[in-house]
Amino acid sequence: MSFDPAAATAAYIDSLGPEALAKAEAYTVGGHWILLWGVLVGALVTWLIVRSGLPDRLQLRLRGKPVRAAFLVSALVLALSSLLTLPWTLYTDYFRMKAYGRTSQPLGDWLGQMALSTAISIVLGALFFLGLYTLIRKAGKSWWVWSGGLVAAVIALMLLAGPVLIEPLFNEYKPLPAGEVRTALEVQAAKAGIPADRIFVYDGSRQSNNFTANVSGVFGSARIAISDVALHGANLNEVKAVTGHEIGHYVSGHIWRGVALFSALAMLFFFLADRLFPRLARLFGSKASIGDPAGLPILLFFASLAGLLAQPISSSFSRWSEADADRYSLETVNLPDALSSALVKTAEYRYPRPGRLEEILFYDHPSVERRVRTAMEWKAAHPSTPDTARDEGGS
Ligand SMILES: [Zn+2]
Repeated sequence: MSFDPAAATAAYIDSLGPEALAKAEAYTVGGHWILLWGVLVGALVTWLIVRSGLPDRLQLRLRGKPVRAAFLVSALVLALSSLLTLPWTLYTDYFRMKAYGRTSQPLGDWLGQMALSTAISIVLGALFFLGLYTLIRKAGKSWWVWSGGLVAAVIALMLLAGPVLIEPLFNEYKPLPAGEVRTALEVQAAKAGIPADRIFVYDGSRQSNNFTANVSGVFGSARIAISDVALHGANLNEVKAVTGHEIGHYVSGHIWRGVALFSALAMLFFFLADRLFPRLARLFGSKASIGDPAGLPILLFFASLAGLLAQPISSSFSRWSEADADRYSLETVNLPDALSSALVKTAEYRYPRPGRLEEILFYDHPSVERRVRTAMEWKAAHPSTPDTARDEGGS
């Protein structure tokens, strides 16, 4: 009786049942359409803001005060954009999530957190655009190169400060309580050189019912955070396998590669914006030039369009790092069945059997089927695994 990775993979995916699979497919495919519709919504919002003439008027009033104009006009545009997009955001991020059982958050709490995150984004965004418009004014023709550097610096700063200053505003992070889970994870963390006090559990269930964990921050602020949804919904081996995956992201430096890739894409974006902006502005009936803060709605729209077009690149990078983190988990904790049963729990919000093109274009993780198959191939190649996940029965 030999082990068949293909059959084992199919058994894992089929264990979800046809109803859950159909629901996951509807949820995932609907998400792709939302990306496309989002660009149309963005175009409408851009047109409305340009038509309102408000950014132009504010810029005119602040003539001769370029620093103040860059900050205030950017803040105004970001605020108008958030406000006009709110009905769409309510549908995509709240009511749709509720309909698919992805969140249990009361509307009031969601709105409160939305208001807070919007306020933070407006202030930080306006500061970023103050930097950008200053570079456009002062750096001459090569402003787009410098602006790519600005993006890299800002992301690095956010990675450093985010876990300390921003994330605690939305969730409560606590050290993982003592017990067999903590003891096991401390061993894993120590092997990767991560201090034991960098493993946290957070109340992810406040916003989402997704089975998830993440690694965030860099240097002193780096930490592994497991959502309480994952902690309570997994057995010990599953937590070990998932933590092995998260540690894999950390030790392989995926974050830094991501920063480098994103900054390069940003530079390319600014280069294209420099050339295409006048044409795009005319399309929306605006006379702004790229250096005018009043032209920000158009720049933002172009960014959303470019983001959609660049998605296959960023998703491919992301899929590669996810597969690499799975590999790290398999190599270090060697729990292919526990990894697979944990992955199946994420299939509720990532349909596990997409078409190849769909996966390349839209998936930021390899499909669960592909990941489970890799784990099962690993199991076949390493037959003496101490894996007992299935006997313990993951729930
Ligand atoms: Zn990952």
